[in-house]
Amino acid sequence: MYFLFIKSESKTPGGLPARPVLTSYYKSSHFKNRPFDPYTNYTSPNETILCPDSYQSMYSQLLCGLCQRTQVLRVGAVFASGFIRAIRFLEKHWQLLCRDIRSGTLDPTVITDPAVREAVLTKVLHRPDPELADFVESECRKDSWQGIITRLWPNTKYVDVIVTGTMSQYIPTLDFYSNGLPLVCTMYASSECYFGVNLNPLCKPSEVAYTLIPTMAYFEFLPVHRNNNNGELVDLADVKLGHEYELVVTTYAGLYRYRVGDVLRVAGFKNRAPQFNFICRKNVVLSIDSDKTDEVELQGAVKNAVDAHLVAFGGSVAEYTSYADTKTTIPGHYVLYWELSVKGTTAIPPSVYEDCCLTVEESLNSVYRQGRVSDKSIGPLEIKIVEQGTFDKLMDYAISLGASINQYKTPRCVKFEPIVELLNSRVEGSYFSPKCPKWVPGHKQWSNNVKN
Ligand code: AMP
Repeated sequence: MYFLFIKSESKTPGGLPARPVLTSYYKSSHFKNRPFDPYTNYTSPNETILCPDSYQSMYSQLLCGLCQRTQVLRVGAVFASGFIRAIRFLEKHWQLLCRDIRSGTLDPTVITDPAVREAVLTKVLHRPDPELADFVESECRKDSWQGIITRLWPNTKYVDVIVTGTMSQYIPTLDFYSNGLPLVCTMYASSECYFGVNLNPLCKPSEVAYTLIPTMAYFEFLPVHRNNNNGELVDLADVKLGHEYELVVTTYAGLYRYRVGDVLRVAGFKNRAPQFNFICRKNVVLSIDSDKTDEVELQGAVKNAVDAHLVAFGGSVAEYTSYADTKTTIPGHYVLYWELSVKGTTAIPPSVYEDCCLTVEESLNSVYRQGRVSDKSIGPLEIKIVEQGTFDKLMDYAISLGASINQYKTPRCVKFEPIVELLNSRVEGSYFSPKCPKWVPGHKQWSNNVKN
């Protein structure tokens, strides 16, 4: 049960079709007429994958997955966020799904696409199955959804999702839903070029290393973390163990020395082929003054705050993003939007969120803290708690603008005004750092992106 989605195509001003790599692939005859292979023998009929309406596509794929529950050996989606979205969809719509399973029909107001109707009714939902509907209902009705994957799909051996890079924040949620099944990251790829594979798929997510396939493109590497003002590139054969590089590709399709925007670290070698840990996307996410905070640093700071203050209340951050607010305060300040998942029963007092603000600030690099303490060029950090479902709305919004569900990643920083407005319209509480973080003059701790 691997969830696959397409997105609608657009045209470039010159009239060429433009679409993400997976849409291209799923619509191609390579995919549609693929020979039998257990690895690509999906519970979703092609018609449900190729349905341009993402709601109908998700609904029908889940329905087919439930109907074939005992045959499912692997569950997943390209990115962890997409898979979790499917589980959330099930949480919201299981009653509708069970009604269709019980009656052996498809609600005509839900599934209107004729190709999807025909495929599901002829290939999967052959007859009313009240027994299955009762079972799914009884599992979904339970208070806790812990282990829901293994309860509904009992033969599942592993979860096939990418959980490296920023997707690593979903690991606890996946562990919860799957009762700790292995999380397998198989590939590292992009729309511009396929990069590599994980040759040790059962390793821990924190140890995943991708071996770049040398024939996929011409790979070169721009060293990071040292003076490299002349932009000297290193060849695949010359990268050094432990060093970090920005990936540069020259592709068959014609991109020349294209900077992908990812930072990789050499983790080891398979024979003489280097293997890389995915570190982060290179972009700086937040900056108010001379401070530059990248994704890794922000993610680490959020984790520190959650571990130090929220865990005791059974709280965790289900989703987050950030915003460099230079409009409403002078000096500007960092704003973090947090959607919480709270399992405890005690209400979290405001002082705990204020402590979280301070811990985030304490965890940021010295350039940031100097700006706060000495230069006073940055205002106190703010955490805004948003209502449940806000980040789903954000994704819906991105999809309505043309993003693809497969490839959607929650942005760790937002700038686009309508998105900031959407987030602000769903704020339940707002908290500021109560004092300045610690900063020792003359003690420089460089941030990852300080060379920029
Ligand atoms: P796209 O342009 O939507 O095709 O996305 C490609 C980008 O997704 C890559 O440049 C990476 O930043 C990210 N990505 C793809 N595969 C992985 C992976 N295995 N781990 C972490 N990030 C990934």
